[in-house]
Amino acid sequence: MDNIKQLLAASKMAKTPCRVDMLHILLDSETALTEIEIKHKLSYDYDRATIFRNLRAFLKTGLLHAIALEGGEVRYQVSESRLQSHVHAHFHCKACSNLYCLNAVSLDKLNLPEGFEAEEFDLVVKGFCEKCTPEHAKHPRSAN
Ligand SMILES: [Zn+2]
Ligand SMILES: [Zn+2]
Repeated sequence: MDNIKQLLAASKMAKTPCRVDMLHILLDSETALTEIEIKHKLSYDYDRATIFRNLRAFLKTGLLHAIALEGGEVRYQVSESRLQSHVHAHFHCKACSNLYCLNAVSLDKLNLPEGFEAEEFDLVVKGFCEKCTPEHAKHPRSAN
């Protein structure tokens, strides 16, 4: 809870029960969540306008980032760092459809050719997450 209080204070955002609840849910989740998923997990039945307004406010301060997927689905997760340059890749699992932040794969670590300057970074890696990786892929080939 202290962590959330600090996050809100650092972003100069007022501490409202809905905001605290939303951040709690996202920090507890190892995957990025849709607005509907967040709404279902909230301890109180806040109306969608309130949730939407808070999501916009979080995005504006950089506390959260949004990931747009094919088909117009948008998911949200807490940003590890509020620095603009800390834009990272995401992993979308084809089996469970969870979306993970890949903080180790970031715009900072892109080796662009001389003279190229990146403005946006939008990379979604698709495949199977740790829980869904087919057994044969985990143990590629036995010695015989
Ligand atoms: Zn999965
Ligand atoms: Zn992310």
